[in-house]
Amino acid sequence: MPELRETLQRLDGAPYARYRSLTGRAWPLGGGGEGVAATMRHGQADPYAPPSRWDVTCARTPFAALDLTRPVRRRALAGFLARSAAAAPSPFRIDAGGQEVLQRSSFEVAEDGSAVLRLGYHLPGPRRRIDGYDAAVDLTRDLPALVRDHVLGVDLDAARAFADAVEDAAHLRAQLPRLGLVAFVADGSVLPRASGVDDRPMPGAVPFASPPSLRVEVDLPHRGRVAGMGVPTGVTVVVGGGFHGKSTLLRALEAGVHDHVPGDGRDLVVTDPSAAALRAEDGRAVTRVDVGAFVTGLPGGLDPRDFSTADASGSTSQAAATVEALEAGARLLLVDEDTAATNLMVRDARMQELVAKASEPLNPFVDLVRSLADDHGVSTVLVVGSSGDYLDVADRVLLLDSYRCSDVTARAREVAARPTGRVAEAGTFPAVRARVPAPGSVDATARGKRRVSAVGTDTLRFGEHDVDVRAVRQFTDAGQVTGAGLALDHAVAAGHLDGRRALPEVLDLLDADLAGPVAGWTGGSPADVAVPRRHEVAAALNRLRALRVPELR
Ligand code: ADP
Ligand code: MG
Repeated sequence: MPELRETLQRLDGAPYARYRSLTGRAWPLGGGGEGVAATMRHGQADPYAPPSRWDVTCARTPFAALDLTRPVRRRALAGFLARSAAAAPSPFRIDAGGQEVLQRSSFEVAEDGSAVLRLGYHLPGPRRRIDGYDAAVDLTRDLPALVRDHVLGVDLDAARAFADAVEDAAHLRAQLPRLGLVAFVADGSVLPRASGVDDRPMPGAVPFASPPSLRVEVDLPHRGRVAGMGVPTGVTVVVGGGFHGKSTLLRALEAGVHDHVPGDGRDLVVTDPSAAALRAEDGRAVTRVDVGAFVTGLPGGLDPRDFSTADASGSTSQAAATVEALEAGARLLLVDEDTAATNLMVRDARMQELVAKASEPLNPFVDLVRSLADDHGVSTVLVVGSSGDYLDVADRVLLLDSYRCSDVTARAREVAARPTGRVAEAGTFPAVRARVPAPGSVDATARGKRRVSAVGTDTLRFGEHDVDVRAVRQFTDAGQVTGAGLALDHAVAAGHLDGRRALPEVLDLLDADLAGPVAGWTGGSPADVAVPRRHEVAAALNRLRALRVPELR
């Protein structure tokens, strides 16, 4: 009889809190396979508390045969196994995430093939007494069966195909700089989603087809040659009538910083991994951001080169978000007029005539986007259905018509050749100053305990603060929001964010840690976590109202 079953049956009828006595020991799970053990890392205080947390380790697995030398394959395999285990009916909670294939705490695979599954389990306890017999059935019969059938016994060919597909996407993304591209959209991709609340592909959608002038072919390690639209560096403007698929294309590019599950439709839609989706976000806090490129003066003598507010306007929030994205290292900006601040995007000829430049402190983005590309190597993809002034500054113009994409650059040049009388209001985008954040202001503790959790992708609970992250579009799920909070706490605890380093250096150090095992930077948190990008970590920090910046560099 397995020791865990014996122990649980002995505890039957005891006060619920005595479940805690199981904590910390590795219990061998006989039926799961050789070398399988379960450890309760965090107990459950009472039947209504969050579920207990268990690590299930598998020392011997058949996975090394799938070639796990490259981290991308380990991430992909872990994603495949987490999905397999989560899809099986069981009393266990396994976080498999959504359509993205991210490294998650729920499943990690090491190079030697060993694996750890981290799950939640509601310990049964009617009337606050231990139900040892039920718990024993779940933990010593169902859990080994789950591991046997849905982890160690998975279809290795399906696992390999999944890993190959993810590796192809990662390879494609890595090729972008060599090809002079910031994004690639494979022919046949399905960009629209099933609905606004369902991230799976839309059935019956019009598949993507590349305009001949932008068609690029790339060789992938597993799938071989693929063709699709290559979006070159520079300024790309997407035009078209309303409801013709412009925002859908841009959203697919936003998502292209991550790999997707095979069959997602965006399997081979990849974007520069530093891409930042920008939008207006009035009401947010801004802490000492140099928005001088966009704002030449502020009422009350505020210095735009050192701008703080507890309540930004649409235009200043988007200006700050742009500069913050550059500070965090974005090489590609993604902007959709649907969610942008109109007065930051453009000021047309007539408005220039009526309102003198002297009384308009905003330099519109249309006059800065060229300098970002030419002087800073930062590309932009913009959706603008309404402002023709962007045709003057575009390297290329894509038209979406009934979801079909064509290259209308030549025609746009002809249109742009006729002067409108509009004059440029700014020439160059200045270098941005980096901020040195104060560690004391990035405090995850509340009432003596660490408090880091997420409410969906809307709110990061961080210490005593609730950080509104609704406008950070590229957060994938709650686990990644939690991950950003834990990464911030780690940056302070590890001494990266030390009050001397500027934010870009802090993020460099953090990146190195985020590439390692999840347990290395989550500080023992029992939460389900997905690894965030540095850009989302920075975006969360930027929205933390407590943030203090003693110095600009
Ligand atoms: P726009 O930004 O041009 O106004 P959207 O991108 O919001 O248009 O798309 C409008 C609608 O068309 C959305 O409901 C979207 O899901 C759908 N859609 C987008 N692309 C496709 C496609 N390729 N096939 C079918 N439907 C699509
Ligand atoms: Mg739109």
